Amino acid sequence: MPYHRIVAKFGTNLLTAGTDHLDTEVMARLAKQAAHLHHQGREIVLVSSGAIAAGRQKLKKVPENKNAPFRQVLASAGQNLLMHTYEEIFSQHKITIAQALLTRTDISNRCGYLNARNTLLALMELGVICIVNENDVVATDEIQKMRFGDNDNLSAMVANLIDADLLVLLTDVSGLYTADPSSNPGAQLIHRVDKIDASVEKLAGKTSRIQGTGGMITKIQAAKLATSSGTNVVIASGEEPEILVKIDAGERSGTFFPAQGNKLESKKRWMLSGLSSRGCITADKGAILALKEQHKSLLPAGIIEVKGHFQRGDIVDVFDQQGNRCACGICNYRFRDIVRIRGAHSDQISKLLGHNYGNEVIHRNNMVVL
Ligand code: GLU
Repeated sequence: MPYHRIVAKFGTNLLTAGTDHLDTEVMARLAKQAAHLHHQGREIVLVSSGAIAAGRQKLKKVPENKNAPFRQVLASAGQNLLMHTYEEIFSQHKITIAQALLTRTDISNRCGYLNARNTLLALMELGVICIVNENDVVATDEIQKMRFGDNDNLSAMVANLIDADLLVLLTDVSGLYTADPSSNPGAQLIHRVDKIDASVEKLAGKTSRIQGTGGMITKIQAAKLATSSGTNVVIASGEEPEILVKIDAGERSGTFFPAQGNKLESKKRWMLSGLSSRGCITADKGAILALKEQHKSLLPAGIIEVKGHFQRGDIVDVFDQQGNRCACGICNYRFRDIVRIRGAHSDQISKLLGHNYGNEVIHRNNMVVL
């Protein structure tokens, strides 16, 4: 299958080959494959873990401590060693690299989403390979809740951000198995998963070896998010020789999750994923009916309640009075403004706020109705 734009994620266990330091040979092998695809004309963004491991390697005399601030210190110390290593390796392939440190918060905000997207697209156009990692120094979510906000989910968001055709999650296992392959010799690799449902999620839970931040569960979450955003996903072993090249050539390796739906729908699905939602608005029956049946925008008059301290440009969910989520969209007014204009006619907006961003709280064009 000819892929055009690829996001490849390298996990910590892979980059360290299970040791306590970065394995530069492994990194060089992975970089060589990325370089090959790059030279073939593919647009590539890498999501690389390994900052914390690199920090541990650098600050070897510091006693180990599992708490979040310490891991942030390690990430801070390690990120530049990680990038320095990539810089050296990629320069051998005459490829310029760039770095983007993101947090979930950065890209769930509409402005941040667009800025990050524009930057990554511009870098690709310049022929630069951008290497993304979570900004661990500020992203407490990732480090405290170890299995959420990890680089698996980050890479799915990056794939969504740049409309990638393919997301490859490279780890130290060969994909999703029918049982835990380390304890069950009969465990079989599942080559293709057409739909990620509860049974697949359950399987991931059972077969997960919790090492590093992720595990199979977060990979399945990431696959779900990416496939529903229109991206094909492969979970495979980065230890397998030429794995990226093989996957790009359409060879059967790892577990393949085909994209669901087309790209247009994917944008809507992204909003609906709820990851980016910053608040909720409860609207009255008439307003909900106008959204659902007359394809109208959400006006202040129909708003009963608002929660979430969101800013203008953020995505919010719209609920009916029974608590059902009916729509979501990009909000034209911040939380504090909506508190003041809710229930009012749109021609009162300027008077109530002293400014006016339009009659609609959520414009129809920026809304998805469920
Ligand atoms: N961002 C972390 C690091 O660079 C790793 C997160 C993960 O393993 O998912 O060390």
